[in-house]
Amino acid sequence: MDYTLRPAAMSIPTALIGIAILSCLMSVAVLGSLFRAQVPGIRHWCVASGLLAVTAALLLLPRRDIVVLGASILLVVGAFLALQGFRRFFDLRSSAAWEYGALGAILAGLVYWIYVSPDVDARVAMVSGFLGYVRFAIAWVVQRYRPAGRPKYSYHFVSISAVLGGVVHAARCAVYGFGLAHATTFLEETPLNIAFLGMATLTAPCLAVGMVMLAHDRLAERMERLATIDDLTGVFGRRAFIARAEALFELAKAARSKLSIAILDIDNFKGINDRYGHAAGDQALAHVALTISREIRQTDVLGRIGGEEFALLLPMTGKEEAARLTNRLRAIVAASVSRVPAGEVACTLSAGVEEFGAGDTVALVMARADTALYAAKANGRNCVMLAGLSQPSDDVVASVPD
Ligand code: GH3
Ligand code: MG
Ligand code: MG
Repeated sequence: MDYTLRPAAMSIPTALIGIAILSCLMSVAVLGSLFRAQVPGIRHWCVASGLLAVTAALLLLPRRDIVVLGASILLVVGAFLALQGFRRFFDLRSSAAWEYGALGAILAGLVYWIYVSPDVDARVAMVSGFLGYVRFAIAWVVQRYRPAGRPKYSYHFVSISAVLGGVVHAARCAVYGFGLAHATTFLEETPLNIAFLGMATLTAPCLAVGMVMLAHDRLAERMERLATIDDLTGVFGRRAFIARAEALFELAKAARSKLSIAILDIDNFKGINDRYGHAAGDQALAHVALTISREIRQTDVLGRIGGEEFALLLPMTGKEEAARLTNRLRAIVAASVSRVPAGEVACTLSAGVEEFGAGDTVALVMARADTALYAAKANGRNCVMLAGLSQPSDDVVASVPD
């Protein structure tokens, strides 16, 4: 008996199709695992990858008209769904009416060139043309709407994969459309077939991996936002604020420039909660944060460092100037109201201001500003106090009109 293991004869196109099926199925599994994260477009991508896997599997069946028709329809619809997924991901309108028209025309063209007047070249050119358009449209959408401030890598990866795929399909469209070569079945080992199939096997899974990368980037963005931004007020949370304070302090030391901090606390906030309810208190907190955010300079950094306590970093600002600016904010908040169902809530702020010194740490400066804040409270509230002064800083601030 002959026990030698002989590999089954497998043509290169069959092997490439096998790889395509596997990689598409893996993309379906990964994208499916992210369903619960509710990233927009992810269901479209998942279905598109699934359809591509089925299409590739159909190519392995004996060539019959119905199989060709089925595979072509799935390929076109899958590509279209992928494009719609990208548009959803970027919050765009999902598709233009003419694209649906084109899709209908392609389906009609497929039936015509398979059953009525068989023409493989025309059919392949038409499908490849559409797939090329979809790939270029994906690349354009991703580059045009790539979010600023996110790592560029995954967005470039998707665009490059899409452009490469687009070039392959456009070339295939041109070659068969202009009659430069004649299309055969996909499984025939002609050099052109292997080249097209090889490139398609390479770029389509890259695109599918790119979808997973974008979904992950969206999740990372959400997590970073959760970790840095305070939900209620939209300003930095305590940890992110202190990290920025450390960074700005390092910069200020390196540039030998001034940096000050103000700690601002809403007066008698417990009374506001008691009188109007906790929800109205929340609204008042958001109102104070928004009012301050609108008034500060672009370089200033505002954070919510406690329940009803905010801190403001003022780069390139000495302590007297910081006290003047803080007093201006205090006056603006005091003159404003937040509208709640039970009426209008008016808040006042007390604040302590301190400047960073050469041998300081953020914690030390914040502690001194906090002591000044307590002094402002002791002084009757609704005022600003400079650290290190036993008298309220009204001397400093009173000379400046609000
Ligand atoms: P003071 O002028 O001395 O600062 O008095 P205060 O009442 O503002 O200070 P206190 O520390 O006694 O009370 C702070 C209150 O802020 C108590 C707490 O319930 C409320 N608070 C803290 N965080 C929130 C929040 O997120 N929403 C609401 N509505 N209230 C909050
Ligand atoms: Mg308070
Ligand atoms: Mg407080």
